[in-house]
Amino acid sequence: MTAAAALPVAVVTGASSGIGAATARHLAAAGHRVVLTARREDRIRTLAAELTGAGHQAEAYALDVTDRPAVDAFAASLDRCDVLVNNAGGALGADPVATGDPEDWRRMYDVNVLGTLHMTQALLPALTASGAGTVVVVSSTAGHATYEGGAGYVAAKNGARVLAETLRLEIVGTPVRVVEVAPGMVKTEEFATTRFRGDTERAAKVYEGVADPLSADDVADTIAWAVSRPPHVNIDLLVVRPRAQASNHKVHREI
Ligand code: NDP
Repeated sequence: MTAAAALPVAVVTGASSGIGAATARHLAAAGHRVVLTARREDRIRTLAAELTGAGHQAEAYALDVTDRPAVDAFAASLDRCDVLVNNAGGALGADPVATGDPEDWRRMYDVNVLGTLHMTQALLPALTASGAGTVVVVSSTAGHATYEGGAGYVAAKNGARVLAETLRLEIVGTPVRVVEVAPGMVKTEEFATTRFRGDTERAAKVYEGVADPLSADDVADTIAWAVSRPPHVNIDLLVVRPRAQASNHKVHREI
């Protein structure tokens, strides 16, 4: 067996930016061979090269989590999988229920819920075979409480949350644990811009006056902490918010 094969393998979806990229960095530093996946291959290749250059083991695999045959082919390409971080996802639009675009809702359900389902189903056999597998689902505080203009995203993140909770019940007794990490306001470079379809001014308003929103690194740190607990310790749910955000609605802004 080569030294490379000896390291536990962590698959991170949505590793081309934000929380996913930061999580790949943390898990590599914690001694995993990280497999970075996302649709933008150039970005994950660059990050994998950076991590490899720093002495870690990292590889990139271009993958759309909504494409089930592609997900199955990806799973078949792995020699092992110890950790799966279902991070790929995001929000599209912030329209009220009365006028929201059903296509936005469909796309959010596709990536946040079905993407997580595809990856989890495809990798569960390998995670079980590892003898100590971990599935992480990056949901959101939006999956725990709703807000005006958030229904499509809130519905999707509730779906991701329910997937995690149900899976934990169903696979109890197997050597796989299920961890949900629910971040509040995280200032990543793309999340709000994607939500508002490239409107950077509107995206900036999300974080306006908030002294210290969470960073991608803050969330990655909590994910890596949960993953690094002994295998019999299951962190069911971590809700992580910046101090300035007491709830989805109650945000302290210094303006
Ligand atoms: P980013 O927009 O920076 O990251 C989203 C990632 O998902 C990108 O790497 C993107 O990569 C990937 N992705 C999107 N669609 C697909 C797809 N179909 N297949 C594969 N990958 C896909 O946002 P964040 O880092 O902020 O968010 C990461 C996760 O955290 C998301 O699930 C988000 O909902 C959640 N979250 C974020 C919060 C925030 O305030 N930022 C708060 C709470 C939760 P690519 O385009 O290259 O495929």
